[in-house]
Amino acid sequence: MTKNVFDQEVIKTQWEVCQQKARALWENHQREIKRTAAGMMIACIVSVGGAAAVQPNAYEISYNDEILGYVKDEASLDEALQKVESSIAEQTGLATAALDAKGLNITRTRVKTKSIEFATAEELTDILLDKQVYRCDAYSIVVDGVPVLAAASEEDANAILERVKQSYSNENSKIISAEYKEKVEVVASDVRELPVAKDVESGVSYILTGTEDPRTYVVQSGDTLWDIAHANGMTSAELIAANPGFDPNRLKIGQELNLVAMKPFMTMVITEEVTETESIPFTTQYTDNSSMYKGQTSIITAGQNGSKEVVSKVVSENGVEISREKLSENVVSQPVVQTAYRGTKALTYTTASGKRASLSNPLASIVMSDGYGASRGSRRHLGVDLRSSKGAPIYAAADGLVTKVSSNGSYGKLVVIDHGNGVTTKYAHCNSFNVSVGDTVTRGQQIATVGSTGNATGNILHYEVLINGSNVNPANYLN
Ligand SMILES: [Zn+2]
Repeated sequence: MTKNVFDQEVIKTQWEVCQQKARALWENHQREIKRTAAGMMIACIVSVGGAAAVQPNAYEISYNDEILGYVKDEASLDEALQKVESSIAEQTGLATAALDAKGLNITRTRVKTKSIEFATAEELTDILLDKQVYRCDAYSIVVDGVPVLAAASEEDANAILERVKQSYSNENSKIISAEYKEKVEVVASDVRELPVAKDVESGVSYILTGTEDPRTYVVQSGDTLWDIAHANGMTSAELIAANPGFDPNRLKIGQELNLVAMKPFMTMVITEEVTETESIPFTTQYTDNSSMYKGQTSIITAGQNGSKEVVSKVVSENGVEISREKLSENVVSQPVVQTAYRGTKALTYTTASGKRASLSNPLASIVMSDGYGASRGSRRHLGVDLRSSKGAPIYAAADGLVTKVSSNGSYGKLVVIDHGNGVTTKYAHCNSFNVSVGDTVTRGQQIATVGSTGNATGNILHYEVLINGSNVNPANYLN
């Protein structure tokens, strides 16, 4: 049976119209029956009573020449017809839903009461509904040959299609073409199997969402995607899927989100010229500065992004962009170049003996007690052990950033310095610290004192050098 999308009020009004029609139809039947009784032949009511001398004793009800049954009295017939009309009006919500006067034939006749079982009003109602002795004339929107929605009038059906088209157009755009991918028609038909649009607005919503119960949510301040999804019994992925073209990283207050998946009946292909403002990133002009290390920079005057107006030809299907072609570009404001100093001072330095070195010694005097790569059970020694006395200062081997200061495990008290350019140094078994994580240090600055914390064999500095994360022999960097 026909579903309907009418609200109660509309049903009521239309039901009243239906009742009036039913009454009119019935009164018409009555008149015709009277005339038949008077011996006149009427197109839709045919008296088959035979000889005038035989008194009719029943009503024969047939539909398209098929006899559906007999009722004894006029009251039962009246009741059944009215029930059928009210039922179809209620179910379709269409003012045009009515008994099919063309196919339905009611004849006053004489039957042998012994061989006929008369139907009650209820039985006749069921038979008439079962045989669908009615028509629901309206206009259906047909997509690629498949009727999807009924509207009460042709104007409504066309208005729904026009509004669907408009719903996909954007601001700041000039529509070049807008057409359905499918063949879309409005056809006058019997729409008993279709959902009926209660008005243009609900019809538009049904066509766009593919559901009679589209639910949406308007984004409030402080909402997160997860909050909205969770509050509506959805996952974030489901919420994103229900909103094609929606960027989950750009949740805007006031934005309307679909809470049910959209399954539009048609694909609206829109080709439009879209004008957008784009940013032009600024460039930076560097001035070399010999008092700063390589890799260090310092802004002199800040840059500023420019902007340009870009006109593109955009093709979208149901609001989701399919292709984009740049048509023109017009610079609105030029970017302002940023100026900055760029360090040139090398990380290497010249040792007292005139040698070029990249790292200076971590201790004032170097006495190696254990070399790099020596066996440590199943592992190898990742650094060198430098013998010293408790409390002797430990110096940073180069400028850098302190990335770790910890007191756990076999390293004991440990300092790690990142020198940039992929170079890292580690200082273990310390007695005390002179720096904290996040401190910038310069070459030769004291960072800790020698101790025997962790897995140490006396007062030693366990010293490691790593290049791009891999340990190398620190002996190559001792001077
Ligand atoms: Zn060691």
